[in-house]
Amino acid sequence: MAATRSDPLVVKQLDFLGGMASVTGWRPDTGLPEVAFAGRSNVGKSSLINVLVRRRAAARISRTPGRTREINFFQVNADFVLADLPGYGYARVARAQREEWRPLIESYLRGNQALRGLVLLLDVRREPGAEDREMLDFLAAEDIPTLVAITKIDKYGVAVGAERVAAIVAALELDPDQVLPVSARTGAGRDELAQAVVDLLR
Ligand code: GDP
Repeated sequence: MAATRSDPLVVKQLDFLGGMASVTGWRPDTGLPEVAFAGRSNVGKSSLINVLVRRRAAARISRTPGRTREINFFQVNADFVLADLPGYGYARVARAQREEWRPLIESYLRGNQALRGLVLLLDVRREPGAEDREMLDFLAAEDIPTLVAITKIDKYGVAVGAERVAAIVAALELDPDQVLPVSARTGAGRDELAQAVVDLLR
């Protein structure tokens, strides 16, 4: 076997710092850089965060009742803060309720000096939705460096998966360099994502 590459992100310590529940609510003030994760409900965000930090239960905290609509913050080593944004665009609730996430997420992101970048997750099987486009527009307007993780690529074979990724890149006019196909199920793309996050922090 080839020598294993060194892990770009070795998580020795992971601490849950707390949640931001309202526009004027508590948010961390660690002085550390922050990287945020966002995407529509069910995109696979909890699963991917768990794989990224190699902790089965990390993002489970974010799913406990009362926390699903908060921004949940985790400190990774003495290095950075990972912000797990609430999933948006849940189709089965009314538009007004669907929009609840927006003020909280936008107030967290807007003018955030600690924020080094955001990882936006998109499901490989879905056409990007209005919320995804609005999020990308918002991030561009705010000059927030953005990575796009295309999740669940294990759902397709290599060729079809690559076609789907290319279709999403074209639909959203993404820079292919900002796009990372990933699978929480197989671990594909985990190290590339870890490296990209580390690069954002530099
Ligand atoms: P979240 O709502 O964005 O946090 O999404 P979850 O991580 O809870 O995942 C939503 C659903 O997608 C669950 O049923 C997961 O098992 C499934 N899922 C998540 N990641 C993957 C993946 O990489 N591959 C596959 N096939 N399913 C996944």
